[in-house]
Amino acid sequence: MRKPVIAGNWKMNMSPNEAKILVTELIPLVKDAKCEVVVCPPYIDLAAVKPILEGTNIKLGAQNVHWAEKGAFTGEVSAAMLKELGVSYAIVGHSERRQYFGETDETVNKRARAALAAGIIPIVCVGESLSQRENGETDALVTAQVTLALDSIPASDVERLVIAYEPIWAIGTGKTATKEQANETIAVIRAAVRSLYGEATASAVRIQYGGSMNAANATELMSMGEIDGGLIGGASLKAADFSKVVNY
Ligand code: PEP
Repeated sequence: MRKPVIAGNWKMNMSPNEAKILVTELIPLVKDAKCEVVVCPPYIDLAAVKPILEGTNIKLGAQNVHWAEKGAFTGEVSAAMLKELGVSYAIVGHSERRQYFGETDETVNKRARAALAAGIIPIVCVGESLSQRENGETDALVTAQVTLALDSIPASDVERLVIAYEPIWAIGTGKTATKEQANETIAVIRAAVRSLYGEATASAVRIQYGGSMNAANATELMSMGEIDGGLIGGASLKAADFSKVVNY
Protein backbone atom coordinates (compact mmCIF):
# COMPACT_ATOMS: atom_id res chain seq x y z
CA MET A 1 0.00 0.00 0.00
CA ARG A 2 1.20 3.50 -0.83
CA LYS A 3 1.44 5.87 2.12
CA PRO A 4 -0.10 9.21 1.13
CA VAL A 5 2.12 12.26 1.36
CA ILE A 6 0.73 15.74 1.89
CA ALA A 7 3.20 18.57 1.36
CA GLY A 8 2.81 22.29 1.93
CA ASN A 9 4.42 24.52 -0.69
CA TRP A 10 4.82 27.85 1.02
CA LYS A 11 6.15 29.49 -2.16
CA MET A 12 7.75 32.91 -1.43
CA ASN A 13 5.92 33.38 1.86
CA MET A 14 7.06 33.44 5.49
CA SER A 15 10.22 35.00 6.92
CA PRO A 16 12.35 32.79 9.19
CA ASN A 17 10.57 34.12 12.28
CA GLU A 18 7.14 33.62 10.72
CA ALA A 19 8.18 30.13 9.62
CA LYS A 20 9.18 29.18 13.16
CA ILE A 21 5.77 30.30 14.46
CA LEU A 22 3.91 28.38 11.74
CA VAL A 23 5.67 25.05 12.30
CA THR A 24 5.40 25.42 16.08
CA GLU A 25 1.63 25.80 15.70
CA LEU A 26 1.45 22.95 13.20
CA ILE A 27 3.31 20.27 15.18
CA PRO A 28 0.57 19.40 17.72
CA LEU A 29 -2.18 19.67 15.11
CA VAL A 30 -0.72 17.00 12.79
CA LYS A 31 1.01 14.68 15.24
CA ASP A 32 -1.48 11.84 14.64
CA ALA A 33 -1.60 12.16 10.84
CA LYS A 34 -1.86 8.89 8.95
CA CYS A 35 -0.11 10.38 5.92
CA GLU A 36 3.44 11.64 5.59
CA VAL A 37 3.54 15.37 6.32
CA VAL A 38 6.02 17.69 4.60
CA VAL A 39 6.53 21.44 4.72
CA CYS A 40 8.47 23.21 1.96
CA PRO A 41 9.44 26.70 3.17
CA PRO A 42 11.66 29.12 1.25
CA TYR A 43 15.38 28.17 1.38
CA ILE A 44 16.07 30.98 3.83
CA ASP A 45 13.77 29.37 6.44
CA LEU A 46 15.11 25.82 6.31
CA ALA A 47 17.80 26.20 8.96
CA ALA A 48 15.39 28.06 11.25
CA VAL A 49 12.64 25.43 11.23
CA LYS A 50 14.77 22.26 11.15
CA PRO A 51 15.55 22.17 14.91
CA ILE A 52 11.87 22.77 15.71
CA LEU A 53 10.85 19.78 13.54
CA GLU A 54 13.38 17.47 15.21
CA GLY A 55 11.59 14.46 16.74
CA THR A 56 8.24 15.28 15.08
CA ASN A 57 6.42 13.58 12.19
CA ILE A 58 6.86 16.62 9.91
CA LYS A 59 9.54 16.30 7.25
CA LEU A 60 11.35 19.20 5.67
CA GLY A 61 11.20 19.91 1.94
CA ALA A 62 12.79 22.50 -0.33
CA GLN A 63 11.05 24.23 -3.24
CA ASN A 64 13.82 23.55 -5.74
CA VAL A 65 17.32 22.09 -6.03
CA HIS A 66 20.14 22.64 -8.51
CA TRP A 67 21.74 19.75 -10.37
CA ALA A 68 25.39 20.75 -10.04
CA GLU A 69 27.43 19.77 -7.00
CA LYS A 70 28.87 23.27 -6.62
CA GLY A 71 30.25 26.13 -8.66
CA ALA A 72 29.37 29.30 -10.49
CA PHE A 73 25.57 29.14 -10.33
CA THR A 74 24.64 32.37 -8.55
CA GLY A 75 21.48 32.08 -6.51
CA GLU A 76 21.24 28.30 -6.72
CA VAL A 77 21.45 25.66 -3.98
CA SER A 78 22.83 22.13 -4.35
CA ALA A 79 21.30 18.87 -3.19
CA ALA A 80 24.23 18.22 -0.84
CA MET A 81 23.69 21.61 0.82
CA LEU A 82 20.01 20.79 1.36
CA LYS A 83 20.84 17.32 2.64
CA GLU A 84 23.21 18.78 5.22
CA LEU A 85 20.35 20.95 6.51
CA GLY A 86 18.15 17.88 6.98
CA VAL A 87 15.97 18.29 3.91
CA SER A 88 14.14 15.09 2.88
CA TYR A 89 12.08 16.28 -0.12
CA ALA A 90 12.53 18.82 -2.92
CA ILE A 91 9.83 20.10 -5.28
CA VAL A 92 11.09 20.13 -8.88
CA GLY A 93 9.42 21.50 -11.99
CA HIS A 94 6.63 23.44 -10.29
CA SER A 95 4.59 25.20 -12.97
CA GLU A 96 5.62 28.59 -11.54
CA ARG A 97 9.27 27.63 -12.11
CA ARG A 98 8.43 26.46 -15.62
CA GLN A 99 6.44 29.62 -16.37
CA TYR A 100 8.60 32.33 -14.77
CA PHE A 101 12.10 30.86 -14.52
CA GLY A 102 12.63 28.94 -17.73
CA GLU A 103 12.41 25.47 -16.22
CA THR A 104 12.25 22.79 -18.92
CA ASP A 105 11.59 19.06 -18.89
CA GLU A 106 15.34 18.59 -19.27
CA THR A 107 16.25 20.71 -16.24
CA VAL A 108 13.46 19.07 -14.23
CA ASN A 109 15.08 15.71 -14.98
CA LYS A 110 18.53 17.00 -13.98
CA ARG A 111 17.21 18.40 -10.72
CA ALA A 112 15.34 15.18 -9.91
CA ARG A 113 18.43 13.07 -10.56
CA ALA A 114 20.61 15.31 -8.39
CA ALA A 115 18.09 15.14 -5.54
CA LEU A 116 17.92 11.34 -5.71
CA ALA A 117 21.71 11.04 -5.80
CA ALA A 118 21.87 13.03 -2.55
CA GLY A 119 19.14 10.96 -0.87
CA ILE A 120 16.45 13.63 -1.27
CA ILE A 121 13.04 12.62 -2.61
CA PRO A 122 11.99 14.79 -5.54
CA ILE A 123 8.35 15.86 -5.86
CA VAL A 124 8.17 16.09 -9.65
CA CYS A 125 5.39 18.45 -10.80
CA VAL A 126 3.54 18.01 -14.08
CA GLY A 127 0.27 19.42 -15.38
CA GLU A 128 -1.54 21.10 -18.23
CA SER A 129 -2.75 24.63 -18.89
CA LEU A 130 -6.44 25.40 -19.40
CA SER A 131 -6.06 25.65 -23.18
CA GLN A 132 -4.20 22.34 -23.29
CA ARG A 133 -7.07 20.71 -21.35
CA GLU A 134 -9.67 22.31 -23.60
CA ASN A 135 -7.79 21.09 -26.69
CA GLY A 136 -7.72 17.52 -25.39
CA GLU A 137 -3.93 17.55 -24.94
CA THR A 138 -3.79 16.71 -21.23
CA ASP A 139 -3.02 13.00 -21.44
CA ALA A 140 -0.31 13.34 -24.08
CA LEU A 141 1.24 16.29 -22.27
CA VAL A 142 1.47 14.72 -18.80
CA THR A 143 2.73 11.48 -20.36
CA ALA A 144 5.49 13.39 -22.16
CA GLN A 145 6.36 15.44 -19.06
CA VAL A 146 6.64 12.33 -16.89
CA THR A 147 8.64 10.42 -19.51
CA LEU A 148 11.16 13.25 -19.85
CA ALA A 149 11.33 13.97 -16.12
CA LEU A 150 12.14 10.32 -15.37
CA ASP A 151 14.69 9.90 -18.16
CA SER A 152 17.64 7.73 -16.98
CA ILE A 153 16.17 7.31 -13.49
CA PRO A 154 16.15 3.63 -12.50
CA ALA A 155 12.98 1.88 -11.30
CA SER A 156 14.29 1.60 -7.73
CA ASP A 157 14.48 5.42 -7.55
CA VAL A 158 11.13 5.97 -9.30
CA GLU A 159 9.52 3.82 -6.60
CA ARG A 160 10.82 6.29 -3.96
CA LEU A 161 9.93 9.54 -5.63
CA VAL A 162 6.69 11.50 -5.70
CA ILE A 163 4.90 12.92 -8.74
CA ALA A 164 2.52 15.85 -8.27
CA TYR A 165 -0.23 16.26 -10.86
CA GLU A 166 -0.99 19.97 -10.81
CA PRO A 167 -3.30 21.34 -13.49
CA ILE A 168 -2.02 24.89 -13.96
CA TRP A 169 -5.56 26.26 -14.22
CA ALA A 170 -6.27 25.01 -10.69
CA ILE A 171 -3.19 26.45 -8.96
CA GLY A 172 -3.98 29.44 -6.78
CA THR A 173 -7.22 30.06 -8.64
CA GLY A 174 -9.72 28.47 -6.28
CA LYS A 175 -10.74 26.17 -9.17
CA THR A 176 -10.12 22.59 -8.14
CA ALA A 177 -10.10 19.73 -10.61
CA THR A 178 -13.06 17.49 -9.84
CA LYS A 179 -12.10 14.35 -8.01
CA GLU A 180 -12.87 12.41 -11.19
CA GLN A 181 -10.66 14.67 -13.36
CA ALA A 182 -7.79 14.43 -10.88
CA ASN A 183 -8.16 10.67 -10.53
CA GLU A 184 -8.35 10.11 -14.30
CA THR A 185 -5.26 12.14 -15.11
CA ILE A 186 -3.31 10.55 -12.26
CA ALA A 187 -4.29 7.17 -13.72
CA VAL A 188 -2.84 8.34 -17.05
CA ILE A 189 0.40 9.32 -15.28
CA ARG A 190 0.53 5.94 -13.52
CA ALA A 191 -0.04 4.22 -16.88
CA ALA A 192 2.93 6.16 -18.29
CA VAL A 193 5.09 4.92 -15.40
CA ARG A 194 3.75 1.39 -16.01
CA SER A 195 4.69 1.44 -19.67
CA LEU A 196 8.20 2.70 -18.82
CA TYR A 197 8.93 0.55 -15.75
CA GLY A 198 6.26 -2.13 -15.30
CA GLU A 199 3.53 -2.83 -12.79
CA ALA A 200 5.58 -3.00 -9.57
CA THR A 201 6.99 0.48 -10.06
CA ALA A 202 3.64 1.92 -11.19
CA SER A 203 1.93 0.57 -8.08
CA ALA A 204 4.67 1.90 -5.79
CA VAL A 205 5.07 5.45 -7.06
CA ARG A 206 3.07 8.04 -5.13
CA ILE A 207 1.16 10.57 -7.22
CA GLN A 208 -0.29 13.63 -5.52
CA TYR A 209 -2.93 16.04 -6.69
CA GLY A 210 -2.26 19.78 -6.38
CA GLY A 211 -4.42 22.77 -7.26
CA SER A 212 -6.57 24.67 -4.77
CA MET A 213 -6.77 21.64 -2.49
CA ASN A 214 -8.03 22.72 0.92
CA ALA A 215 -9.92 21.68 4.03
CA ALA A 216 -13.23 21.65 2.16
CA ASN A 217 -12.23 19.33 -0.68
CA ALA A 218 -9.38 17.21 0.74
CA THR A 219 -11.60 14.37 1.98
CA GLU A 220 -13.25 13.76 -1.38
CA LEU A 221 -10.03 14.09 -3.35
CA MET A 222 -8.25 11.72 -0.95
CA SER A 223 -11.06 9.18 -1.27
CA MET A 224 -10.04 8.48 -4.87
CA GLY A 225 -8.01 5.34 -5.49
CA GLU A 226 -5.28 6.93 -7.62
CA ILE A 227 -4.68 10.04 -5.48
CA ASP A 228 -1.82 9.48 -3.03
CA GLY A 229 -1.74 12.86 -1.33
CA GLY A 230 -1.61 16.52 -2.12
CA LEU A 231 0.70 19.42 -2.85
CA ILE A 232 -0.89 22.35 -1.08
CA GLY A 233 -0.10 26.02 -1.74
CA GLY A 234 -2.41 28.64 -0.25
CA ALA A 235 -3.96 26.33 2.33
CA SER A 236 -0.54 25.43 3.77
CA LEU A 237 0.14 28.93 5.09
CA LYS A 238 -2.08 28.68 8.16
CA ALA A 239 -1.56 25.83 10.62
CA ALA A 240 -5.29 25.33 11.18
CA ASP A 241 -6.03 25.09 7.44
CA PHE A 242 -3.09 22.82 6.58
CA SER A 243 -3.78 20.51 9.51
CA LYS A 244 -7.35 20.01 8.30
CA VAL A 245 -6.03 18.88 4.91
CA VAL A 246 -3.46 16.60 6.54
CA ASN A 247 -6.11 15.08 8.82
CA TYR A 248 -8.52 14.71 5.87
C1 PEP B 1 0.93 24.73 -5.54
O1 PEP B 1 1.53 25.77 -5.46
O2 PEP B 1 1.55 23.69 -5.78
C2 PEP B 1 -0.52 24.75 -5.36
C3 PEP B 1 -1.20 23.65 -5.59
O3 PEP B 1 -1.08 25.94 -4.95
P1 PEP B 1 -2.60 26.16 -4.45
O4 PEP B 1 -2.90 25.06 -3.47
O5 PEP B 1 -2.59 27.51 -3.82
O6 PEP B 1 -3.47 26.07 -5.65
